[in-house]
Amino acid sequence: MRVTGLPPYDPTNVFARILRGEIPSKKVHEDDFALAFHDINPQAPVHVLVIPKGAYCSHADFTASATDAEIAGFWRAVGKVARDLGLEAGGYRILSNMGEDGGQEVPHFHVHIFGGRRIGRMVPRAEA
Ligand code: 5GP
Repeated sequence: MRVTGLPPYDPTNVFARILRGEIPSKKVHEDDFALAFHDINPQAPVHVLVIPKGAYCSHADFTASATDAEIAGFWRAVGKVARDLGLEAGGYRILSNMGEDGGQEVPHFHVHIFGGRRIGRMVPRAEA
């Protein structure tokens, strides 16, 4: 079963292209399960994206379809990246946008890591 919440995986999405080395990225970590690189449009002094190596559209797809090894490897990489970036002492936020209501723009599952300042409200107030 493949649960996506999004259309089928699009292998031309920008993160798939980064994984294939077709688009450059400022890489901070790579292992068998994950690639981490700086966001092109940072929203905090540290803003890094961590993506699984597998072709998963979203958090929904990843948690339904990835193997236990892929899930464990991915989350261990997220923790290692935050640690290696020196964010543990001051703290950091991890966030994953899922689907339309979540505001997901790139249809390859990814986690944002924000740090380097107080990140502020967990969710902005809805606009009136
Ligand atoms: P989403 O809204 O899907 O959670 O976040 C997608 C993120 O990908 C955005 O923060 C955006 O700045 C980042 N992004 C989009 N295209 C590129 C790119 O080509 N390179 C990098 N490094 N980040 C990108």
